[in-house]
Amino acid sequence: MASDRDPFVIVGGGIAGVTCAEQLASQFPSEEVYLLTASPLVKTVTNFKQVSKTLEEFNVEEQPSSVLEGKYPNLKVIQSTVKLLQVKQHLVQTENGQTFHYKKLCLCSGARPKLLTQDNPHVLGIRDTDSAQEFQKRLSKAKRIVVVGNGGIALELVYEIEGCEVIWAIKDKAIGNTFFDAGAAQFLIPSLEPDKKDRSLPCKRARYTTDKTGAGQSGVSGELGSALGPDWHEGVELRGAEKSSSRTHMEYECEVEKIYTQQDFFMSDLNKENSKLGMWPVYVQLTNGMAYGCDFIVSATGVVPNTDPFLCGNNFELAADHGLKVDDHMRTSEQDVYAAGEVCTIGWEPSPLWQQMRLWTQARQMGWYAARCMAAEVLEESIDLDFCFELFSHITKFFNYKVVLLGKFNAQGLGQDHELLVRCTKGREYVKVVLSGGRMLGAVLIGDSDLEETFENLILNQMDLSRYGEELLNPNIDIEDYFD
Ligand code: FAD
Repeated sequence: MASDRDPFVIVGGGIAGVTCAEQLASQFPSEEVYLLTASPLVKTVTNFKQVSKTLEEFNVEEQPSSVLEGKYPNLKVIQSTVKLLQVKQHLVQTENGQTFHYKKLCLCSGARPKLLTQDNPHVLGIRDTDSAQEFQKRLSKAKRIVVVGNGGIALELVYEIEGCEVIWAIKDKAIGNTFFDAGAAQFLIPSLEPDKKDRSLPCKRARYTTDKTGAGQSGVSGELGSALGPDWHEGVELRGAEKSSSRTHMEYECEVEKIYTQQDFFMSDLNKENSKLGMWPVYVQLTNGMAYGCDFIVSATGVVPNTDPFLCGNNFELAADHGLKVDDHMRTSEQDVYAAGEVCTIGWEPSPLWQQMRLWTQARQMGWYAARCMAAEVLEESIDLDFCFELFSHITKFFNYKVVLLGKFNAQGLGQDHELLVRCTKGREYVKVVLSGGRMLGAVLIGDSDLEETFENLILNQMDLSRYGEELLNPNIDIEDYFD
């Protein structure tokens, strides 16, 4: 059983784990906090800035663990993968043979790419510094690649790649379905034309930096490095083997039916039907009947929470997406075990304006809130669900445009019960608001509209906007003054 003298133990040196460990170490300066992590570098948040009530910006730096230990003398970082968890005994064991008893444990082990197929050398996933470098190396010799997936990573990749033809296979009717509707996708598509890929446009966004001295190292087991984040490709040249700029060809509403090696392909019926596909290291057959040869395939089809080492012998409740289910105090179903970041799935009834998305900002918020909940339980205090879970908000950048997403930005879960107002100036901005019963429930702001704070307030205060109608997006009205 746990004793009060046992330390707090956190697993995972990504944003969730480090934020959680820092918060506990500063709140309990005379208690020991252990951070056990598979990766040699830890991710720390710097230059945190609360942009508005819920929008936040920060830089992320990969640092050696000594920097963290220097800041908090009671925080010890152990670089070793956790192999075993025995919740009844309140102990974890690491690959290097060390055993740690805990009074409270927080699992922040992140997630790994959901690959189209395991152990196929022609299929790459991008997750950490190592996999990004492998991708860059393979790309430098490639003339054509197939990118499968429609989330943030696929969007960034397709935009950033130069000197290589990209076949982009998505299962939806429009690009970026995770973040945008078809209208926003139409606004962004011209940016994919080779001569439009203007990377010099200024753009405010959270910066991600890596410590150059440590870049390239990852977890000892090679698979457990921290997830990359915004701007992961900055300073990494994503250039293929062709001199000319890249061409992107989209295949909509399809998935991968089958992947063929060169040898299998030439013996297959697909070769007989598509004899003009040419010589490539690998071939992809899509469910829409199309087939392509390519140098390799990037699988950017989401992530799977890293729960494996913790499940054996324990009784964790898992969500449908295999995340550790947590309650509104970030507690898993096992006593004294909390979870935060990508490894967990919320099990509470969320606010009507918030949804979980496996993003950078939520990893930080969950890590911080989990630490406060752990502390509250130890101190026998009560704690309310943090305000950050009230309204979904995210600032990022796609295709060099600043992108702000608020609330039910894609009318998630609203069925037909909503209307949309859209303002679009080609090449400059795309503004969409989601209204239901005259109240604003969400917004997508692409470009420098500067409307985020006003819209955030309108969403939070749920003011009845019926009488403003389309005037709400009239560019000649200074909406900020209007609602002041
Ligand atoms: P991670 O950062 O993955 O950290 C998990 C930690 O756990 C790692 O240190 C790992 O080594 C450790 N670990 C795992 N298993 C074990 C074990 N058994 N024992 C010990 N340690 C273990 N988000 C955005 O908001 N905006 C973006 O633009 C964006 N771009 C992205 C681009 C890429 C290529 C990728 C991969 C992700 C991107 N994300 C982005 C997502 C974002 O990076 C993640 O949501 C966030 O980093 C998750 O943080 P985390 O702490 O939960 O997990």
